[in-house]
Amino acid sequence: MPRPKDVTIAERNRMVKAYESGSSLTEVARQYGRGQSTVYVHLVAAGVKLRSNGRRAGWRRNPIIQGRKNCPSCRRWRHIHDFVPDRRTIVAGACRSCRKIREAARRRDPVQGANRREYDRIWHEGQRRAAGVQSRAFNTQRGGGSGMHVPIGPLGRQVREWLDAYGPGGTAALAHNSGLSERRVYGVRNDETPTVSIRVADALAMGMGLHIDMIYDDDRELAA
Ligand SMILES: [Zn+2]
Repeated sequence: MPRPKDVTIAERNRMVKAYESGSSLTEVARQYGRGQSTVYVHLVAAGVKLRSNGRRAGWRRNPIIQGRKNCPSCRRWRHIHDFVPDRRTIVAGACRSCRKIREAARRRDPVQGANRREYDRIWHEGQRRAAGVQSRAFNTQRGGGSGMHVPIGPLGRQVREWLDAYGPGGTAALAHNSGLSERRVYGVRNDETPTVSIRVADALAMGMGLHIDMIYDDDRELAA
């Protein structure tokens, strides 16, 4: 590697002039194609008073002193082990105690919780996409069927009417007739869900000796 030419007195004087007219040490170094330390040495040798950039070397905003660090959150001096980074942060800003308190508060807040879950979902989706994992299509339609749903209103009314007319043991009888569980019949009777799958609606209609069209006589009801 060729040794750079020594800085001449003339060049040093130009550097000093540039630095004193407001250029930073970095800018002067770039302008003259010299290293920053070279410029620094020559400026000091020329007796120039260096402008501080407001930071001393090794100066830190929140230094570790005798194995302890001041927590900016609770203002306590905590052992450095209380600032060990956790899996979420690169550098723990606050002490472990403060982080625990914050985390608990976050967990109590339902809005924060919802935001976090949404964020996690999007983040994990991105990770899977980046890793080339094929996205999975979950079948969220319980009980299979066509996936078509009808509003529960007319069906619930009809089931309650039928059960009232039947008397005791009606739920079991209707479950048997329609091939559904008693729990399912109970759920429809009590309007547990706003909609019900067309398979269940059809089975219940048949179990009551009706056709589904007789319950949902208006086509708009079925389309809803
Ligand atoms: Zn703290």
